[in-house]
Amino acid sequence: MNVLIHNARIVKPGAGISNGSVLVRDGHIVAVGEVDTATSDEVPVVDGGGRLLTPGLIDLHTHGVDTALYERSEEDYFAAARVLPKFGNTCVLPTLYRVMNRPSLKLLERFADTLPKVKEVSMPGFHLEGPFLALPGAGADTIPGDVVLLEELIAACRGRVLAMSISPDTKNIIPVIERLVAHKITPLMTHTAATAEQTQAAIDAGASHATHFYDVFPAPEVTEPGVRPVGTVEAILADPRVTVDFVCDGVHASPFAIRAALAAKGWQGVVLITDSNIGAGLLPGVYDTPWGFKVRVRDGDGARHDEKNTLAGSALTMDRGIVNLFNWLKIPPEQVWAMGTLNPARVLGLERKGRIAPGADADLVLWNEDLTAAHTWVNGISVYEKSAG
Ligand SMILES: [Zn+2]
Repeated sequence: MNVLIHNARIVKPGAGISNGSVLVRDGHIVAVGEVDTATSDEVPVVDGGGRLLTPGLIDLHTHGVDTALYERSEEDYFAAARVLPKFGNTCVLPTLYRVMNRPSLKLLERFADTLPKVKEVSMPGFHLEGPFLALPGAGADTIPGDVVLLEELIAACRGRVLAMSISPDTKNIIPVIERLVAHKITPLMTHTAATAEQTQAAIDAGASHATHFYDVFPAPEVTEPGVRPVGTVEAILADPRVTVDFVCDGVHASPFAIRAALAAKGWQGVVLITDSNIGAGLLPGVYDTPWGFKVRVRDGDGARHDEKNTLAGSALTMDRGIVNLFNWLKIPPEQVWAMGTLNPARVLGLERKGRIAPGADADLVLWNEDLTAAHTWVNGISVYEKSAG
């Protein structure tokens, strides 16, 4: 709960990096920089060894990790939490996509009751990827907007929903977006082949972010030979009210798409996600799934169907996503870190997360030179420490 981390290079996302100390009391950051040792009496001290100290990574779109899958069982939440701190994650939104229906309401209640019991990583709420989507992608539901069902889903989740993915081209979607805004749930656009006009209407109603941008955003059809058509991607890039996130594994979105979004929106407008699933963070190999096939994991690739070789989800972890962004983007490091910390916190309205400042939650990661996590804290509690050697 209490700790003094001294001799660290403190990353303030988007703002800068400077040497100093961070004092944590009762799970919150109380002082940053030159910490008066008289105020830190009897607090356990950790020597940062001159290493980088950042806010913990926040993943707003992840279905599972390692062998855990959030929509399978309560135990999967605890299993995920045991491995996430090792990748520098301190906050995730378990993302569900095949259980947002009336027969699953009891299951959603059980999952929602599990979230506050998980301690090694913060799970402030769900991301519901559907069911009001236009294109199925990896088996997601595609039904018209229905505010009655929406309210039943939110109630079953005990109100613990921070984001919902919708498509601007889903029938009757505008009332759903308006209801989400009223609930302070961030409406995310995805799984869409919407026109620019449909997208504009969704943004006007309150859709403010696009998730796994470019993935399940098929190119519009050419109707005038030689004239490049515009659609939802251009409408999203053109509108300063909208931020975007990418699966930064080099497979689900090209680095050129990420650079284009950076040029359009600035560092504040681009977010790193994993969209990870079973297989993420595991060593190369073949792993069982509940879907009737096995997935094959290789370094630097998505998880693939073992026999068909088709993409079967992302195997990315947030720490590797940060490394990829450092390789692809020529911007100051504190801006790259913001894409995995401050920016997702802002998308979700989590004001005490993603920052190293007095009053912020003490969700912190000390990093090794190779950008593997050395030490991770959640609410000031040490949840992971890499063993020496
Ligand atoms: Zn997803």
